[in-house]
Amino acid sequence: MKTNIIPRDGELVGPWQKDLFTAVQTGRVGNEVFDCLIVGGGITGLTAALLLQQSGKKTLLAEAHTIGFGTTGGTSAHINTFADTTYNETESAFGTEGAKLFADAIREGFDLIKSNIENYKIDCDYELKTGYLYAENEDEVKLLAEIFEGALKVGVPVKYVTEVPTPVPYEKALAWAGQAQFQPLKYLQGLQKAYLAAGGTLEEHTLITGVILKNGVLTAENAVQSIKAKAVIYATHMPPNINLFNFECAPYRSYVLAVQLKSGQYPDALIYDSQEPYHYVRSHVIDGQELLLVGGLDHKTGHDDPENAFAELEKYTRTYYNVSSVKYRWSSQYYVPVDGLPYIGKMPLAPKGIYCATGYNGNGMMLGSIAGRLLSDLVRKRPNKYAGLFDPCRVKLIDSFSELVKENSDVAYHFVADRFGFHETDSLIRLEPGQGKLVEVDGRKVAAYRDEDGTIHALNPTCTHAACIVNWNGAEKSWDCPCHGARYDIEGRVLTGPATRDLGRYGDEK
Ligand SMILES: Cc1cc2nc3c(=O)[nH]c(=O)nc-3n(C[C@H](O)[C@H](O)[C@H](O)COP(=O)(O)OP(=O)(O)OC[C@H]3O[C@@H](n4cnc5c(N)ncnc54)[C@H](O)[C@@H]3O)c2cc1C
Repeated sequence: MKTNIIPRDGELVGPWQKDLFTAVQTGRVGNEVFDCLIVGGGITGLTAALLLQQSGKKTLLAEAHTIGFGTTGGTSAHINTFADTTYNETESAFGTEGAKLFADAIREGFDLIKSNIENYKIDCDYELKTGYLYAENEDEVKLLAEIFEGALKVGVPVKYVTEVPTPVPYEKALAWAGQAQFQPLKYLQGLQKAYLAAGGTLEEHTLITGVILKNGVLTAENAVQSIKAKAVIYATHMPPNINLFNFECAPYRSYVLAVQLKSGQYPDALIYDSQEPYHYVRSHVIDGQELLLVGGLDHKTGHDDPENAFAELEKYTRTYYNVSSVKYRWSSQYYVPVDGLPYIGKMPLAPKGIYCATGYNGNGMMLGSIAGRLLSDLVRKRPNKYAGLFDPCRVKLIDSFSELVKENSDVAYHFVADRFGFHETDSLIRLEPGQGKLVEVDGRKVAAYRDEDGTIHALNPTCTHAACIVNWNGAEKSWDCPCHGARYDIEGRVLTGPATRDLGRYGDEK
Protein backbone atom coordinates (compact mmCIF):
# COMPACT_ATOMS: atom_id res chain seq x y z
CA MET A 1 0.00 0.00 0.00
CA LYS A 2 1.42 3.42 -0.95
CA THR A 3 2.12 5.85 1.91
CA ASN A 4 -0.19 8.73 2.53
CA ILE A 5 1.35 11.87 1.12
CA ILE A 6 -1.58 14.28 1.19
CA PRO A 7 -0.77 17.18 3.49
CA ARG A 8 -4.20 17.45 5.13
CA ASP A 9 -7.20 15.32 5.91
CA GLY A 10 -9.01 15.77 2.61
CA GLU A 11 -8.56 15.87 -1.14
CA LEU A 12 -9.15 19.60 -1.58
CA VAL A 13 -6.13 21.89 -1.36
CA GLY A 14 -6.36 24.74 1.13
CA PRO A 15 -4.20 27.85 0.97
CA TRP A 16 -2.19 27.14 4.12
CA GLN A 17 -0.76 23.81 3.13
CA LYS A 18 1.00 24.85 -0.07
CA ASP A 19 4.25 25.92 1.56
CA LEU A 20 4.27 23.00 3.97
CA PHE A 21 7.55 22.07 5.51
CA THR A 22 8.99 18.68 4.73
CA ALA A 23 8.34 15.78 7.03
CA VAL A 24 10.61 15.38 10.00
CA GLN A 25 11.41 11.98 11.39
CA THR A 26 14.10 11.58 13.95
CA GLY A 27 14.28 7.79 13.73
CA ARG A 28 13.21 4.93 15.95
CA VAL A 29 12.66 5.78 19.56
CA GLY A 30 14.26 2.82 21.30
CA ASN A 31 13.65 1.89 24.90
CA GLU A 32 13.80 5.34 26.43
CA VAL A 33 11.04 6.36 28.87
CA PHE A 34 9.90 9.89 28.00
CA ASP A 35 8.46 12.24 30.61
CA CYS A 36 5.56 12.87 28.25
CA LEU A 37 4.35 11.56 24.91
CA ILE A 38 2.18 14.07 23.05
CA VAL A 39 -0.04 12.43 20.43
CA GLY A 40 -1.09 14.80 17.62
CA GLY A 41 0.73 17.64 15.88
CA GLY A 42 -1.88 20.41 15.64
CA ILE A 43 -1.99 23.64 17.63
CA THR A 44 -2.82 21.77 20.88
CA GLY A 45 -0.03 19.21 20.60
CA LEU A 46 2.70 21.60 19.51
CA THR A 47 1.78 24.18 22.18
CA ALA A 48 1.84 21.52 24.91
CA ALA A 49 5.02 19.88 23.60
CA LEU A 50 6.92 23.15 23.41
CA LEU A 51 5.90 24.24 26.93
CA LEU A 52 6.80 20.87 28.43
CA GLN A 53 10.10 20.55 26.61
CA GLN A 54 11.10 24.05 27.65
CA SER A 55 10.25 23.32 31.27
CA GLY A 56 12.91 20.61 31.22
CA LYS A 57 10.68 17.60 30.50
CA LYS A 58 11.85 15.08 27.93
CA THR A 59 9.04 14.82 25.39
CA LEU A 60 8.16 13.06 22.18
CA LEU A 61 5.49 14.31 19.79
CA ALA A 62 3.93 11.57 17.63
CA GLU A 63 1.83 12.64 14.64
CA ALA A 64 -0.07 10.10 12.52
CA HIS A 65 0.62 12.01 9.31
CA THR A 66 2.54 15.30 9.15
CA ILE A 67 2.40 18.41 11.35
CA GLY A 68 -0.78 20.38 10.62
CA PHE A 69 -2.53 17.45 8.90
CA GLY A 70 -5.66 17.77 11.06
CA THR A 71 -8.07 20.64 11.57
CA THR A 72 -5.31 23.17 12.28
CA GLY A 73 -4.38 22.73 8.61
CA GLY A 74 -7.97 23.46 7.58
CA THR A 75 -8.90 26.20 10.01
CA SER A 76 -9.84 29.74 9.00
CA ALA A 77 -7.59 31.05 11.79
CA HIS A 78 -9.53 33.85 13.49
CA ILE A 79 -8.19 34.79 16.90
CA ASN A 80 -11.00 36.21 19.01
CA THR A 81 -11.95 37.36 22.49
CA PHE A 82 -15.47 35.91 22.06
CA ALA A 83 -16.53 32.32 21.45
CA ASP A 84 -19.20 30.15 19.80
CA THR A 85 -20.56 29.32 23.25
CA THR A 86 -21.50 32.86 24.23
CA TYR A 87 -20.66 34.24 27.66
CA ASN A 88 -24.35 34.44 28.56
CA GLU A 89 -24.81 30.76 27.60
CA THR A 90 -21.75 29.92 29.69
CA GLU A 91 -23.17 31.88 32.61
CA SER A 92 -26.48 30.00 32.51
CA ALA A 93 -24.69 26.63 32.60
CA PHE A 94 -21.60 27.40 34.73
CA GLY A 95 -22.55 30.54 36.71
CA THR A 96 -21.03 34.01 36.57
CA GLU A 97 -17.66 32.85 37.88
CA GLY A 98 -17.57 30.07 35.27
CA ALA A 99 -18.35 32.55 32.49
CA LYS A 100 -15.62 34.92 33.74
CA LEU A 101 -13.10 32.09 33.85
CA PHE A 102 -14.06 31.03 30.33
CA ALA A 103 -13.53 34.60 29.09
CA ASP A 104 -10.14 34.65 30.86
CA ALA A 105 -9.17 31.36 29.17
CA ILE A 106 -10.11 32.66 25.73
CA ARG A 107 -8.09 35.85 26.37
CA GLU A 108 -5.13 33.90 27.74
CA GLY A 109 -5.14 31.59 24.68
CA PHE A 110 -5.14 34.68 22.45
CA ASP A 111 -2.24 36.21 24.40
CA LEU A 112 -0.26 32.96 24.35
CA ILE A 113 -0.38 32.91 20.54
CA LYS A 114 0.74 36.54 20.46
CA SER A 115 3.62 35.98 22.88
CA ASN A 116 4.77 32.85 21.00
CA ILE A 117 4.84 34.86 17.77
CA GLU A 118 6.91 37.56 19.47
CA ASN A 119 9.24 35.28 21.44
CA TYR A 120 10.02 32.91 18.57
CA LYS A 121 9.86 35.61 15.89
CA ILE A 122 7.30 33.62 13.89
CA ASP A 123 6.48 35.24 10.57
CA CYS A 124 2.87 34.04 10.19
CA ASP A 125 0.88 36.96 8.72
CA TYR A 126 -0.40 37.92 12.21
CA GLU A 127 -2.60 41.02 11.94
CA LEU A 128 -4.92 42.82 14.32
CA LYS A 129 -8.46 43.47 13.01
CA THR A 130 -11.81 44.62 14.32
CA GLY A 131 -14.44 41.86 14.57
CA TYR A 132 -18.08 42.61 13.65
CA LEU A 133 -21.18 40.54 14.35
CA TYR A 134 -24.41 41.74 12.74
CA ALA A 135 -28.12 40.90 13.01
CA GLU A 136 -30.46 40.83 10.00
CA ASN A 137 -33.83 40.36 11.74
CA GLU A 138 -35.66 40.85 15.04
CA ASP A 139 -34.67 37.47 16.54
CA GLU A 140 -31.02 38.05 15.71
CA VAL A 141 -31.21 41.57 17.20
CA LYS A 142 -32.36 39.96 20.48
CA LEU A 143 -29.50 37.47 20.29
CA LEU A 144 -27.06 40.33 19.78
CA ALA A 145 -28.40 42.10 22.89
CA GLU A 146 -27.79 38.93 24.95
CA ILE A 147 -24.27 38.56 23.57
CA PHE A 148 -23.59 42.23 24.36
CA GLU A 149 -24.84 41.91 27.97
CA GLY A 150 -22.99 38.63 28.47
CA ALA A 151 -19.68 40.02 27.20
CA LEU A 152 -19.86 43.15 29.35
CA LYS A 153 -20.68 41.08 32.43
CA VAL A 154 -17.43 39.11 32.07
CA GLY A 155 -15.37 42.18 31.21
CA VAL A 156 -14.88 41.59 27.47
CA PRO A 157 -14.94 44.97 25.67
CA VAL A 158 -17.62 45.20 22.95
CA LYS A 159 -19.79 48.00 21.60
CA TYR A 160 -22.72 48.65 19.29
CA VAL A 161 -21.73 50.23 15.96
CA THR A 162 -23.65 51.59 12.98
CA GLU A 163 -21.00 51.00 10.31
CA VAL A 164 -19.96 47.49 9.25
CA PRO A 165 -17.83 46.88 6.14
CA THR A 166 -20.31 44.42 4.62
CA PRO A 167 -22.57 44.59 1.56
CA VAL A 168 -25.22 42.55 3.45
CA PRO A 169 -28.12 44.69 4.75
CA TYR A 170 -28.28 44.46 8.55
CA GLU A 171 -30.25 45.96 11.41
CA LYS A 172 -27.80 46.10 14.31
CA ALA A 173 -24.15 45.22 14.82
CA LEU A 174 -21.55 44.71 17.53
CA ALA A 175 -17.83 45.37 17.24
CA TRP A 176 -14.88 43.91 19.17
CA ALA A 177 -11.66 45.86 18.69
CA GLY A 178 -8.27 44.11 18.75
CA GLN A 179 -9.17 40.71 17.25
CA ALA A 180 -6.59 38.98 15.06
CA GLN A 181 -5.88 36.56 12.22
CA PHE A 182 -2.83 34.59 11.11
CA GLN A 183 -1.56 31.84 8.82
CA PRO A 184 -1.94 28.74 11.02
CA LEU A 185 0.65 26.48 9.41
CA LYS A 186 3.33 29.16 9.39
CA TYR A 187 2.57 29.50 13.11
CA LEU A 188 2.85 25.72 13.63
CA GLN A 189 6.09 25.71 11.70
CA GLY A 190 7.44 28.34 14.11
CA LEU A 191 6.37 26.28 17.14
CA GLN A 192 7.89 23.15 15.61
CA LYS A 193 11.20 24.92 15.04
CA ALA A 194 11.28 26.15 18.64
CA TYR A 195 10.34 22.68 19.90
CA LEU A 196 13.14 20.96 17.99
CA ALA A 197 15.60 23.68 19.04
CA ALA A 198 14.65 22.98 22.67
CA GLY A 199 15.59 19.30 22.17
CA GLY A 200 12.11 17.84 21.55
CA THR A 201 11.69 14.59 19.61
CA LEU A 202 9.24 14.48 16.72
CA GLU A 203 7.96 11.35 15.01
CA GLU A 204 5.70 11.92 12.03
CA HIS A 205 3.79 9.12 10.24
CA THR A 206 3.32 7.55 13.66
CA LEU A 207 -0.28 6.56 14.36
CA ILE A 208 -0.79 5.68 18.01
CA THR A 209 -3.41 2.93 18.18
CA GLY A 210 -3.73 2.76 21.96
CA VAL A 211 -1.97 3.31 25.27
CA ILE A 212 -1.75 0.73 28.04
CA LEU A 213 -0.16 0.71 31.46
CA LYS A 214 2.61 -1.91 31.40
CA ASN A 215 4.85 -2.49 34.43
CA GLY A 216 3.94 0.94 35.78
CA VAL A 217 4.86 2.74 32.54
CA LEU A 218 2.44 4.04 29.91
CA THR A 219 3.15 2.25 26.65
CA ALA A 220 1.82 3.61 23.39
CA GLU A 221 1.40 1.16 20.56
CA ASN A 222 2.20 1.95 16.96
CA ALA A 223 2.58 -0.35 13.94
CA VAL A 224 6.39 -0.36 14.15
CA GLN A 225 7.35 0.46 17.72
CA SER A 226 6.24 0.91 21.33
CA ILE A 227 6.80 4.28 22.93
CA LYS A 228 7.17 4.46 26.70
CA ALA A 229 6.27 7.54 28.73
CA LYS A 230 5.35 8.62 32.26
CA ALA A 231 2.49 10.75 30.91
CA VAL A 232 0.54 10.83 27.64
CA ILE A 233 -1.42 13.74 26.15
CA TYR A 234 -4.01 12.98 23.49
CA ALA A 235 -3.85 16.19 21.43
CA THR A 236 -5.70 14.39 18.66
CA HIS A 237 -8.72 16.74 18.59
CA MET A 238 -10.81 13.67 19.46
CA PRO A 239 -9.14 10.95 21.55
CA PRO A 240 -8.84 7.70 19.58
CA ASN A 241 -11.03 4.59 19.96
CA ILE A 242 -14.30 4.30 21.89
CA ASN A 243 -14.46 6.81 24.74
CA LEU A 244 -16.84 9.03 26.68
CA PHE A 245 -16.37 11.95 24.27
CA ASN A 246 -18.08 9.96 21.51
CA PHE A 247 -21.25 10.78 23.44
CA GLU A 248 -20.30 14.24 24.71
CA CYS A 249 -19.07 15.87 21.51
CA ALA A 250 -20.69 16.01 18.08
CA PRO A 251 -18.45 16.20 14.97
CA TYR A 252 -19.27 19.02 12.54
CA ARG A 253 -17.94 19.87 9.08
CA SER A 254 -17.35 23.46 8.11
CA TYR A 255 -16.64 24.97 4.67
CA VAL A 256 -14.38 27.74 3.38
CA LEU A 257 -13.88 29.44 0.00
CA ALA A 258 -11.04 31.83 -0.87
CA VAL A 259 -12.09 34.06 -3.75
CA GLN A 260 -10.66 36.90 -5.79
CA LEU A 261 -12.89 39.97 -6.19
CA LYS A 262 -13.21 42.01 -9.39
CA SER A 263 -13.26 45.25 -7.39
CA GLY A 264 -9.98 44.53 -5.66
CA GLN A 265 -11.64 45.96 -2.51
CA TYR A 266 -11.38 43.60 0.47
CA PRO A 267 -12.79 44.21 3.97
CA ASP A 268 -10.12 45.03 6.55
CA ALA A 269 -12.06 43.22 9.30
CA LEU A 270 -13.42 39.90 10.60
CA ILE A 271 -17.15 39.87 9.84
CA TYR A 272 -19.77 37.37 11.02
CA ASP A 273 -23.53 37.13 10.55
CA SER A 274 -25.90 35.61 13.14
CA GLN A 275 -27.64 33.08 10.91
CA GLU A 276 -27.91 29.40 11.75
CA PRO A 277 -25.72 28.00 10.20
CA TYR A 278 -23.71 31.19 10.00
CA HIS A 279 -21.43 32.85 7.42
CA TYR A 280 -18.25 34.81 7.97
CA VAL A 281 -15.79 36.72 5.79
CA ARG A 282 -12.26 37.98 6.19
CA SER A 283 -9.39 38.69 3.84
CA HIS A 284 -5.86 37.24 3.62
CA VAL A 285 -2.94 37.90 1.29
CA ILE A 286 -1.88 34.55 -0.18
CA ASP A 287 1.11 34.48 -2.56
CA GLY A 288 0.95 38.27 -2.90
CA GLN A 289 -2.72 38.20 -3.91
CA GLU A 290 -5.40 39.45 -1.54
CA LEU A 291 -8.33 37.00 -1.29
CA LEU A 292 -11.68 37.02 0.48
CA LEU A 293 -12.22 34.02 2.76
CA VAL A 294 -15.89 33.15 3.10
CA GLY A 295 -16.83 30.34 5.46
CA GLY A 296 -19.54 28.61 7.44
CA LEU A 297 -22.56 26.45 6.50
CA ASP A 298 -21.51 23.92 9.17
CA HIS A 299 -23.43 20.65 9.57
CA LYS A 300 -22.95 17.38 11.39
CA THR A 301 -20.36 15.19 9.70
CA GLY A 302 -21.80 12.60 7.34
CA HIS A 303 -25.30 14.10 7.50
CA ASP A 304 -25.62 16.65 4.67
CA ASP A 305 -24.12 16.73 1.20
CA PRO A 306 -20.74 18.56 1.30
CA GLU A 307 -20.93 19.43 -2.41
CA ASN A 308 -24.27 21.08 -1.80
CA ALA A 309 -22.75 23.05 1.10
CA PHE A 310 -19.98 24.34 -1.20
CA ALA A 311 -22.55 25.24 -3.87
CA GLU A 312 -24.62 27.15 -1.29
CA LEU A 313 -21.56 28.95 0.04
CA GLU A 314 -20.52 29.99 -3.44
CA LYS A 315 -24.07 31.16 -4.23
CA TYR A 316 -24.08 33.24 -1.03
CA THR A 317 -20.67 34.73 -1.89
CA ARG A 318 -21.70 35.63 -5.45
CA THR A 319 -24.92 37.23 -4.16
CA TYR A 320 -22.98 39.83 -2.19
CA TYR A 321 -19.57 40.05 -3.88
CA ASN A 322 -18.42 40.46 -7.45
CA VAL A 323 -16.27 37.34 -7.65
CA SER A 324 -13.73 37.03 -10.43
CA SER A 325 -12.56 33.53 -9.49
CA VAL A 326 -12.69 30.93 -6.73
CA LYS A 327 -9.05 30.20 -5.85
CA TYR A 328 -9.51 27.64 -3.06
CA ARG A 329 -12.26 25.63 -1.45
CA TRP A 330 -11.80 23.27 1.44
CA SER A 331 -13.57 21.87 4.47
CA SER A 332 -12.58 20.56 7.86
CA GLN A 333 -13.96 19.13 11.09
CA TYR A 334 -14.53 20.42 14.62
CA TYR A 335 -16.29 19.10 17.72
CA VAL A 336 -19.24 20.67 19.55
CA PRO A 337 -19.25 19.84 23.27
CA VAL A 338 -22.61 18.98 24.73
CA ASP A 339 -22.49 21.56 27.53
CA GLY A 340 -20.68 24.25 25.54
CA LEU A 341 -17.21 24.15 27.13
CA PRO A 342 -14.14 22.15 26.07
CA TYR A 343 -12.93 19.02 27.86
CA ILE A 344 -9.29 19.50 28.87
CA GLY A 345 -7.57 17.43 31.55
CA LYS A 346 -7.36 13.88 32.82
CA MET A 347 -8.81 11.38 30.35
CA PRO A 348 -11.90 9.83 31.98
CA LEU A 349 -11.81 6.07 32.64
CA ALA A 350 -8.16 5.85 31.54
CA PRO A 351 -5.04 4.91 33.53
CA LYS A 352 -3.47 7.68 35.60
CA GLY A 353 -1.19 9.97 33.62
CA ILE A 354 -3.28 10.09 30.41
CA TYR A 355 -4.64 13.51 29.47
CA CYS A 356 -6.75 14.81 26.60
CA ALA A 357 -8.30 17.92 25.07
CA THR A 358 -11.37 18.11 22.84
CA GLY A 359 -14.66 19.94 22.22
CA TYR A 360 -13.28 23.34 21.21
CA ASN A 361 -16.22 24.20 18.94
CA GLY A 362 -14.93 26.68 16.31
CA ASN A 363 -12.53 28.32 18.79
CA GLY A 364 -9.57 25.97 18.78
CA MET A 365 -6.91 28.61 18.13
CA MET A 366 -7.43 30.11 21.59
CA LEU A 367 -8.71 26.94 23.31
CA GLY A 368 -6.06 24.69 21.73
CA SER A 369 -3.41 27.11 22.97
CA ILE A 370 -4.83 27.29 26.47
CA ALA A 371 -5.23 23.49 26.45
CA GLY A 372 -1.52 23.22 25.64
CA ARG A 373 -0.72 25.29 28.71
CA LEU A 374 -3.26 23.61 31.01
CA LEU A 375 -2.14 20.11 30.02
CA SER A 376 1.52 20.96 30.41
CA ASP A 377 0.72 22.30 33.91
CA LEU A 378 -1.16 19.09 34.79
CA VAL A 379 1.75 16.93 33.60
CA ARG A 380 4.12 19.11 35.63
CA LYS A 381 1.76 18.88 38.64
CA ARG A 382 1.37 22.64 38.76
CA PRO A 383 -1.89 24.39 39.62
CA ASN A 384 -3.90 25.94 36.81
CA LYS A 385 -7.01 28.02 37.39
CA TYR A 386 -8.93 26.43 34.48
CA ALA A 387 -8.44 22.82 35.62
CA GLY A 388 -11.84 22.60 37.34
CA LEU A 389 -13.89 24.40 34.70
CA PHE A 390 -12.62 22.29 31.81
CA ASP A 391 -12.30 19.01 33.76
CA PRO A 392 -13.38 16.23 31.32
CA CYS A 393 -14.86 14.29 34.22
CA ARG A 394 -17.42 17.00 35.00
CA VAL A 395 -21.07 16.05 34.78
CA LYS A 396 -23.12 18.89 33.40
CA LEU A 397 -26.59 18.03 32.29
CA ILE A 398 -28.61 21.05 33.42
CA ASP A 399 -29.24 23.41 30.51
CA SER A 400 -27.60 21.17 28.00
CA PHE A 401 -29.74 18.15 28.73
CA SER A 402 -32.00 18.59 25.72
CA GLU A 403 -28.96 19.09 23.50
CA LEU A 404 -27.38 15.93 24.94
CA VAL A 405 -30.52 13.99 24.15
CA LYS A 406 -30.62 15.43 20.64
CA GLU A 407 -27.00 14.56 19.87
CA ASN A 408 -27.27 11.12 21.42
CA SER A 409 -30.60 10.20 19.88
CA ASP A 410 -29.05 11.01 16.54
CA VAL A 411 -26.05 8.78 17.27
CA ALA A 412 -28.40 6.10 18.56
CA TYR A 413 -30.45 6.36 15.35
CA HIS A 414 -27.37 5.62 13.27
CA PHE A 415 -26.32 2.74 15.50
CA VAL A 416 -29.67 1.10 14.78
CA ALA A 417 -30.40 2.27 11.23
CA ASP A 418 -26.93 1.47 9.95
CA ARG A 419 -27.22 -2.10 11.09
CA PHE A 420 -30.79 -2.90 10.14
CA GLY A 421 -32.23 -0.28 7.82
CA PHE A 422 -30.10 -0.43 4.70
CA HIS A 423 -32.17 -0.74 1.52
CA GLU A 424 -29.74 0.50 -1.13
CA THR A 425 -30.18 -1.42 -4.38
CA ASP A 426 -28.01 0.66 -6.69
CA SER A 427 -25.36 -1.25 -8.61
CA LEU A 428 -21.70 -0.61 -9.24
CA ILE A 429 -22.35 -0.29 -12.95
CA ARG A 430 -23.92 3.12 -12.58
CA LEU A 431 -21.04 4.54 -10.55
CA GLU A 432 -19.43 7.44 -12.45
CA PRO A 433 -15.63 8.05 -12.39
CA GLY A 434 -14.76 10.24 -9.38
CA GLN A 435 -17.95 9.19 -7.59
CA GLY A 436 -18.37 7.20 -4.40
CA LYS A 437 -21.52 5.50 -3.21
CA LEU A 438 -22.86 2.92 -0.81
CA VAL A 439 -24.08 0.07 -3.00
CA GLU A 440 -25.32 -3.41 -2.43
CA VAL A 441 -23.39 -6.30 -3.97
CA ASP A 442 -24.52 -9.89 -3.42
CA GLY A 443 -26.75 -8.67 -0.61
CA ARG A 444 -23.84 -6.98 1.17
CA LYS A 445 -23.15 -3.29 1.73
CA VAL A 446 -20.11 -1.92 -0.05
CA ALA A 447 -18.50 1.54 0.07
CA ALA A 448 -17.51 1.83 -3.58
CA TYR A 449 -15.49 4.53 -5.31
CA ARG A 450 -14.67 4.56 -9.03
CA ASP A 451 -11.43 6.43 -9.79
CA GLU A 452 -10.74 8.39 -12.99
CA ASP A 453 -9.13 5.28 -14.55
CA GLY A 454 -12.37 3.40 -14.01
CA THR A 455 -11.01 1.18 -11.24
CA ILE A 456 -13.45 0.45 -8.42
CA HIS A 457 -12.12 0.78 -4.87
CA ALA A 458 -14.50 -1.32 -2.79
CA LEU A 459 -14.47 -1.17 0.99
CA ASN A 460 -16.39 -2.59 3.87
CA PRO A 461 -18.43 0.49 4.93
CA THR A 462 -18.54 -0.48 8.59
CA CYS A 463 -16.65 2.14 10.57
CA THR A 464 -13.91 0.43 12.56
CA HIS A 465 -14.61 2.70 15.53
CA ALA A 466 -18.15 1.77 16.56
CA ALA A 467 -19.56 -0.09 13.54
CA CYS A 468 -21.78 2.64 12.06
CA ILE A 469 -21.97 2.86 8.26
CA VAL A 470 -19.86 5.56 6.60
CA ASN A 471 -21.25 8.04 4.03
CA TRP A 472 -19.56 9.42 0.92
CA ASN A 473 -18.11 12.96 1.08
CA GLY A 474 -17.81 13.89 -2.60
CA ALA A 475 -16.04 17.20 -1.93
CA GLU A 476 -13.10 15.80 0.06
CA LYS A 477 -13.31 12.32 -1.53
CA SER A 478 -13.55 10.64 1.84
CA TRP A 479 -15.82 8.22 3.66
CA ASP A 480 -17.25 10.03 6.72
CA CYS A 481 -18.92 8.35 9.68
CA PRO A 482 -22.17 10.05 10.75
CA CYS A 483 -21.92 8.74 14.32
CA HIS A 484 -18.63 10.05 15.74
CA GLY A 485 -16.88 11.68 12.78
CA ALA A 486 -14.21 9.11 11.89
CA ARG A 487 -13.09 9.63 8.28
CA TYR A 488 -11.26 7.46 5.73
CA ASP A 489 -9.73 8.04 2.28
CA ILE A 490 -10.72 6.09 -0.84
CA GLU A 491 -8.32 3.29 0.08
CA GLY A 492 -9.94 3.07 3.51
CA ARG A 493 -7.01 4.64 5.38
CA VAL A 494 -7.90 6.62 8.52
CA LEU A 495 -7.93 10.39 7.89
CA THR A 496 -9.60 11.49 11.12
CA GLY A 497 -10.10 9.67 14.44
CA PRO A 498 -11.51 8.41 16.72
CA ALA A 499 -10.95 5.34 14.49
CA THR A 500 -7.41 3.96 14.55
CA ARG A 501 -7.94 1.05 12.13
CA ASP A 502 -8.48 1.36 8.38
CA LEU A 503 -11.70 0.25 6.71
CA GLY A 504 -11.51 -3.34 5.50
CA ARG A 505 -11.40 -3.97 1.77
CA TYR A 506 -14.49 -5.57 0.30
CA GLY A 507 -13.86 -9.28 -0.03
CA ASP A 508 -11.06 -9.45 2.55
CA GLU A 509 -13.52 -10.60 5.20
CA LYS A 510 -14.97 -13.42 3.10
C1 LIG B 1 -13.35 25.15 8.80
C2 LIG B 1 -12.94 25.45 10.22
C3 LIG B 1 -12.63 26.74 10.56
C4 LIG B 1 -12.22 27.04 11.86
N1 LIG B 1 -11.92 28.33 12.16
C5 LIG B 1 -11.47 28.62 13.40
C6 LIG B 1 -11.12 29.96 13.71
O1 LIG B 1 -11.23 30.85 12.87
N2 LIG B 1 -10.65 30.23 14.96
C7 LIG B 1 -10.53 29.24 15.90
O2 LIG B 1 -10.14 29.57 17.03
N3 LIG B 1 -10.85 27.95 15.62
C8 LIG B 1 -11.31 27.62 14.40
N4 LIG B 1 -11.64 26.34 14.11
C9 LIG B 1 -11.37 25.28 15.10
C10 LIG B 1 -9.87 24.96 15.15
O3 LIG B 1 -9.33 24.95 13.84
C11 LIG B 1 -9.63 23.59 15.79
O4 LIG B 1 -10.32 23.54 17.01
C12 LIG B 1 -8.16 23.35 16.07
O5 LIG B 1 -7.42 23.47 14.88
C13 LIG B 1 -7.95 21.96 16.70
O6 LIG B 1 -6.56 21.81 16.89
P1 LIG B 1 -5.97 20.47 17.51
O7 LIG B 1 -4.51 20.62 17.55
O8 LIG B 1 -6.65 20.16 18.79
O9 LIG B 1 -6.41 19.33 16.49
P2 LIG B 1 -5.85 19.03 15.02
O10 LIG B 1 -5.34 20.22 14.34
O11 LIG B 1 -6.95 18.25 14.34
O12 LIG B 1 -4.62 18.10 15.29
C14 LIG B 1 -4.75 16.77 15.74
C15 LIG B 1 -3.64 15.95 15.10
O13 LIG B 1 -3.63 14.67 15.72
C16 LIG B 1 -3.30 13.71 14.73
N5 LIG B 1 -3.80 12.43 15.21
C17 LIG B 1 -5.11 12.06 15.37
N6 LIG B 1 -5.18 10.80 15.86
C18 LIG B 1 -3.90 10.39 16.02
C19 LIG B 1 -3.33 9.17 16.50
N7 LIG B 1 -4.10 8.16 16.93
N8 LIG B 1 -1.97 9.07 16.54
C20 LIG B 1 -1.18 10.10 16.12
N9 LIG B 1 -1.69 11.27 15.66
C21 LIG B 1 -3.03 11.40 15.61
C22 LIG B 1 -4.00 14.20 13.47
O14 LIG B 1 -3.39 13.69 12.30
C23 LIG B 1 -3.87 15.71 13.61
O15 LIG B 1 -2.77 16.25 12.88
C24 LIG B 1 -12.11 26.01 12.84
C25 LIG B 1 -12.45 24.70 12.50
C26 LIG B 1 -12.88 24.42 11.21
C27 LIG B 1 -13.25 23.02 10.87
